[in-house]
Amino acid sequence: MVLRDTGLRHTAAVVLVAVLAGAGVMGGCTGTPTYSGELAFSFLEKQCEFGPRPPGSDAHEAMRDWLVEVLQGYADEVSVQRFTVLDTEGNEVVLSNVIASFRMDARERVLFGAHWDTRRIAERDPDEGNRDRPILGANDGASGVAVLLGLAAMMADRSPRVGVDLVFFDGEDGGNGGGFDSFCVGSTLFAGRMGDYAPIYAVVVDMIGDRDLSIPVEVNSMSACPSVVRTVWDAAERVGATSFTEESGTAVFDDHIPLIRAGVPSALIIDFDYTYWHTIEDTPDKCSPESLWEVGAVLAELVY
Ligand SMILES: [Zn+2]
Repeated sequence: MVLRDTGLRHTAAVVLVAVLAGAGVMGGCTGTPTYSGELAFSFLEKQCEFGPRPPGSDAHEAMRDWLVEVLQGYADEVSVQRFTVLDTEGNEVVLSNVIASFRMDARERVLFGAHWDTRRIAERDPDEGNRDRPILGANDGASGVAVLLGLAAMMADRSPRVGVDLVFFDGEDGGNGGGFDSFCVGSTLFAGRMGDYAPIYAVVVDMIGDRDLSIPVEVNSMSACPSVVRTVWDAAERVGATSFTEESGTAVFDDHIPLIRAGVPSALIIDFDYTYWHTIEDTPDKCSPESLWEVGAVLAELVY
């Protein structure tokens, strides 16, 4: 584990353990530490400062290097899966999945995923003149990554109860809108290379930064993996994340689908009702720390 505590805080933790041991409740801390939506939001803003981050761009490369560096400060182990693919125009682009692992000793592992690339066209922008421009992806891209980085910061301070692998998928949003083949490229390649790796379940987060957050049950997750959905929604109820509803939402093709196809029980947390989806207006002011807290607190509840 990577200790990021100051010596002072570390001493305090040792004293606390001693007190608990004395009281006969040894077994480590109990309860879930507090998730910081503010910290997560700062990670969202930071990503947007790079500008739009579609594969092949300088900002995409800068974002990847930053992501790896941040995670190296938090995780027990960070690795990068690199591969070269052709984009929809036939150009070669390098994609990178970034994987950050916590509690390497734990056999029981869960996977939390989010895509870190952003879409190179704003094809849904109301202004036709903007439709070939790239999106900033504050919600569609940065929000999921921000939530996972907030969790990484927590897990650096206090080890989770299970092994946790945070997987930052590349190439999720490069598709041409018609077919699904060119979407979720990074997760498809990841799912094909898992070998013996078999997390007990996976949760993918995408588009969860909307100020006006409402998270219905995603249809594909529910039909393939109802028990994972139940686990997540029960955790939401325990932490008071009221944006999670029991309503049935849209069926969404996202990075959970390749995982499900590869045999990993998986659920997607998404608020697909977002006016600025695939427009150049997908900017940080449409998102909020409170929304990131809702989802981050649920993931924290799952691992502590
Ligand atoms: Zn998208």
